[in-house]
Amino acid sequence: MGDFEKCQICKEFDFLSTHKCAPEWEVVYPENGDPEDSGTYYKAFGIDEEDALDKLCHNEYSDWDYPEEFELWIRKPVWGSWLKFDIYVQSVPEFRFTKKE
Ligand SMILES: [Zn+2]
Repeated sequence: MGDFEKCQICKEFDFLSTHKCAPEWEVVYPENGDPEDSGTYYKAFGIDEEDALDKLCHNEYSDWDYPEEFELWIRKPVWGSWLKFDIYVQSVPEFRFTKKE
């Protein structure tokens, strides 16, 4: 099976010998409501829009320590039409309990 590693292209962990990247998407955080004007652009990978946004948000926004709502637009690279999504980010505290010997 080969090594279970992080793909350098799509950032997913997988067996690289059999890995195929999920379809690529273009994502923008539009600053003036017009993605052609200005904004922050990302490459995302996923089987559909929501999967791609989910993975992108985990990579980009997991370390935010306060809740935030914003808009991201996503499309198939170059030729697709933009779909708009409202994004809500909230980091949930994680607790671990290890009994001391
Ligand atoms: Zn990949």
